Amino acid sequence: MIGVINDKCDFCGTCVAVCPFDAIDLYEARIEINQRCTDCMLCVWICPVETLAPLDAEGKIILREEAKLAA
Ligand code: SF4
Ligand code: SF4
Repeated sequence: MIGVINDKCDFCGTCVAVCPFDAIDLYEARIEINQRCTDCMLCVWICPVETLAPLDAEGKIILREEAKLAA
């Protein structure tokens, strides 16, 4: 599961464009990850302000370095 971890998002739309599964919904002042997400991580790596991050089964943030090791 991917989560929005901070409020730095500037709604650039890059993550929306890169998502191969149309799993990111961009609204005027927020983004949401929908159920089509496959946890491919593309959006996490592409976001220029590190707004997106994988979450563990309990909904806790998995840090980028940990995710990199698991990839
Ligand atoms: S790439 Fe990052 S900053 Fe841009 S819309 Fe997505 S989450 Fe927001
Ligand atoms: S992890 Fe992959 S499938 Fe999920 S929202 Fe990001 S780019 Fe789309």
